[in-house]
This record gives sequence, C-alpha cells and structure tokens, in this order.
Amino acid sequence: MNATAEMAGLTSQRTDGPQACRLVIFDCDGVLVDSEPIAVELLLEMISAAGGEITREAAYERFLGCSLSKIVAELEDRHQITVTAGLLESMRVGLYERFKQELQPIHAVGEALSRLEQPFCVASSSQPERIRLSLSLTGLADRFASNIFSATMVRHGKPAPDLFLHAAAQMGVEPHACVVVEDSPAGVTAAKRAGMRVIGFTGGSHAAPAGLDAKVRALRPDLMLNTMDRLPEAIAELEAARR
Ligand SMILES: [Mg+2]
Repeated sequence: MNATAEMAGLTSQRTDGPQACRLVIFDCDGVLVDSEPIAVELLLEMISAAGGEITREAAYERFLGCSLSKIVAELEDRHQITVTAGLLESMRVGLYERFKQELQPIHAVGEALSRLEQPFCVASSSQPERIRLSLSLTGLADRFASNIFSATMVRHGKPAPDLFLHAAAQMGVEPHACVVVEDSPAGVTAAKRAGMRVIGFTGGSHAAPAGLDAKVRALRPDLMLNTMDRLPEAIAELEAARR
C-alpha cells in the first residue's frame, strides 16, 4: 500500500502474490482421465512398426504432456517417421477406438469435482475433439460444459504459459487467483510461467513407469498430490499457506 492510500485508509488488493483461489484449471490426460498408458502404448507400437527403438520410460519422457505438433516433430526428427496425413488419421482413429474400449476416469475425480467450491475448467495439449471424447467416455463432460481449452487455441503449447493464460482470461480470472492441477513436467512449467500456483498430481497409472514423482517434484510445484480424494483439502492448504 502506498503512503497516500494508507493515509486515506484505503486497502489495495495484492496483485503480485497469490490470491484466494477463484479458478481450478485441470490438465486432462493423466489428471482427469487415465489416458497416458493407452496413448504411450500406441506410440510405442507405431515407432516399433516403423523399425525404431524406444523404451517406455523414454517415450514418457519425450511425449508426456506434449501437443500433437510437438509429438509429430519428435517422431519425424528423432525416429525418422514421416508423419503423413494418412498416418495421422490412422493414429487418431486407433487412439479413439482404444479410448472407447479402455478409457477410465482418474480414481475419485468425479467426487472431487463435486466437492470443489471453486469454478473449474480444463486446459489440455490435446485436440478439442479428443478432450471432449475423453470427458464424455468417462462421464465428466457435463461437469465441464463449454469450459474446455485446447493448445490448438493458442500459438505455443505447454511448457509455454499461453494456454493457461488463455483459459484464465476466458474464465475471467487473474492468473494469481488460479490453481492448476498437472501431471506432466511440461504442464507444471507452463503453470509456473503463467504465474499460477500448481499442484503436481501423481495419481495416474502412468506415474510410476514415467518416474513422474521425482520429475514433477524437481520443478517445485506448490504441492504434490497422489489421490483426487484429497483435492479440495489440497486447495484449502494452498489457501491457508498464502495468509
Ligand atoms: Mg497430462
């Protein structure tokens, strides 16, 4: 507060530090839906069919939380796979077929959403069509309605902050009043660059094979969480910490 405002008895709202949480921004894959093992298996099969070699852990390291354009660039540059429109389409169809058979919500996420006091939205590296399919197959679509934001809506995907800033602006909330829930190193970095608090989530079934706990923890998120059962309490903890 400056001296003039103090003399006048005015209080100013801090804009440089964390504010009360007024929006929770969820990543989709690995946070709302347990999709990462399915998506990574598909990429492993494709790389191996093309004669390439990659370990499961390396696949997680290179592809987790990345946009389609980044995945395509990686396949072309590192694995010399020419990603034609036809190949892209067959990847898309193959993934959606598996989602329809296997995709599950992250354990207890529906109950956690019901207990949240704040508005929430989803901001994902995936295409809008894939986000909607994932949410609808897992019974979560109605919870998010139209509050769905995709990396296709901004110039730079995660780890750039653009998508989270776009989601916050569309939802009418300042970055400092947002809490992001993310499982990928790229997503945690993006949230921090956006000036948002971030919860590192390691409750997805990919967390162990991807070695996520150590990788996410190393980026110093505000809090680590390994089950959605505790999400509302985790947000309350962040609220208490700012006082
Ligand atoms: Mg994710």
